[in-house]
Order: sequence, then structure tokens, then C-alpha cells
Amino acid sequence: METGRVIKSTGSWYVVELPGERRVECRIRGKFRLEGMRTTNPVAVGDLVQVEEKEREYVIREIMPRKNYIIRKSTNLSKEAHILAANVDQALLVATVNHPVTSTVFIDRFLAGAEAYRIPVVLVFNKTDLYEEEEDRALLAEWKGIYEQVGYVCLAVSAETGEGVEEVKALLAGKVTAVAGLSGVGKSSLLNRVEPGLGLKTAVISDAHDSGKHTTTFAEMFPLSGGGYVVDTPGVRSFGMVDMEKEEISHFFPEIFACAEGCRFYNCTHTHEPGCAVRAAVEAGEISASRYASYLSMLEGDGGKYR
Ligand code: GDP
Ligand code: ZN
Repeated sequence: METGRVIKSTGSWYVVELPGERRVECRIRGKFRLEGMRTTNPVAVGDLVQVEEKEREYVIREIMPRKNYIIRKSTNLSKEAHILAANVDQALLVATVNHPVTSTVFIDRFLAGAEAYRIPVVLVFNKTDLYEEEEDRALLAEWKGIYEQVGYVCLAVSAETGEGVEEVKALLAGKVTAVAGLSGVGKSSLLNRVEPGLGLKTAVISDAHDSGKHTTTFAEMFPLSGGGYVVDTPGVRSFGMVDMEKEEISHFFPEIFACAEGCRFYNCTHTHEPGCAVRAAVEAGEISASRYASYLSMLEGDGGKYR
């Protein structure tokens, strides 16, 4: 038996990377049930597995306990979940202030979802080469300020000119990183810059096309020459869809959660209650109005699901 990492999954067979960068195709035998939930895929990309070789056939015998995992609930009523990736160290959220604009609501929902998974996020604002307008640059500075104040690492980069790409590279080294962001923000372009051998397809794909692809795409992670892997699959790109109880949502906005200690009522929703420290902080400009607006929109929405 050897321990390896699943780097590709087709649903029926898997590519496992074994020590010494050996890649083998594996099948699974027997039943795997983990975390007591029903999943459409027992083995996910990123899983650490015990592999056994038998007559030149590799078989996954066991899955090691997962540090974390990103799931997507199936849309049907079977209550099954699909594990998009396991053992993720961090997420890289690629966003843009223009061409196209990524809304702060999208960013905040994603960040809250990642907090729920306890996955740290690096926020990368791409396409800085296009921000010639004073307005765009001011918006970039404002958004960076908002998220840095909350404690998120932010970078401004251009996949086109290479600005900031070395910093991205340094942040990815040795880690398993899930890459996320709306279609067209430049995820593939950025990854190709970071790792020229990747050869990811770049294109502006219409959302209709994109969602059609979701069902069939194989999950895959790409090894980086500086160590580490990136997970770049359509499902992961927007994993901010986590079911949250309304009472939980504020826990996933770190600055709101911290401030809530000062609220008069322990179960304050920070919407209308007297003695609410959060609303006072928003009014004083200590908590960003756009973050608070996102919090409210999640509260009013369907429990935090962003679509
Ligand atoms: P993805 O859908 O997030 O993977 O985005 P792509 O990497 O396919 O990029 C979408 C479009 O934006 C392509 O036409 C890219 O050439 C363009 N693009 C990506 N990054 C940049 C950038 O930093 N600057 C400029 N000007 N264009 C970019
Ligand atoms: Zn409050």
C-alpha cells in the first residue's frame, strides 16, 4: 500500500499521484462512506488515498480523513452532495472592478462561504492594465481597503502585463488552491501566466455555455512547478453556495461577528434592534456599508445561496 493524492477524477477512474511524481490510474473497490453523508462521488480530487497494486492494477483501498472539503448540493431532491475538492489549503478569488465588474455582493457571499468551510481566501483583483479611468482606480483602492481591513490578503494584478503575477506565484507555492471567480475575469489567463505549461483555454464563454459544461467536466487539479496544486473546475469556481442558517450568516462576516459582542441582545440580527453595535459601527464608518449591505442581502435571501 502507498499513500497518494487524487489529482483527477472522471467518476469511474482516478489519477493518483504517488511519491516520486508517479501518476497511476486507479479504480475503486468496495464501498466508501465518509463523513456520514450521501455523496455522488465517494472519492474526490484532493483526497489522500491508500493505493494497492495488484497485478499491475491500481486500486484505491482507503481514503484518509479529509481536512476539509468543498461540496455542491445536487439540484435534485435526492439530498446527495457532490464533493468538488478535498483538502484545500486556500481559495484564490479572482475579481475585477470593471470589464466585467464583480459585484461586492458576489465577493462577500463567496468570502462568507469560504469562512463557513474555514478556507482562507486570497482576493486577486485582475485586469489592472485596463483601469485607466480615475473611477476604476479609485474603486480598486476602495475595495482593496475594505477587504484588507477585514483581514483578507488582497493583490492587484494583470494577467496581461504580468503585474503582480510573481506575488500570486509565491502565494500558491506548496499549497492546494481552489481558483474561483466569475466567468471572464481572467482565471485561466492568470493561471497560464503563473504556470506557462498549463495551457488552460482562455475565452469569454457565455454563461449559458458555461453552465452546460458544469455537468460533464472532470474534476482536475494541476501540479505547479513551484510545488502545490491549483484546482480549477467550473464547480469550484463559484463554490460560494453554502447553505447557511440565518442566525449563522453573521458568523461568516468576521468584522460583524467581532463587533456583535457589543450588541445589547445576544441574538441581535443587526437589522433593527436597539443597542446594536454593528449598526453603530456601520454608521461610524468602521464597518463597510457595502459589506453590511451584503450581509443584509444574504439575510433576506434564501439562506445564503447566491443563485
Ligand atoms: P476566465 O473565464 O476567468 O478563465 O477568463 P479568461 O482567462 O478566459 O479571460 C477572459 C478574457 O479576459 C480573455 O479575453 C482574456 O484575454 C482577458 N483577460 C484576462 N486577464 C486579463 C488582464 O489582466 N488584462 C486584460 N486586458 N485582459 C485580460
Ligand atoms: Zn447587533
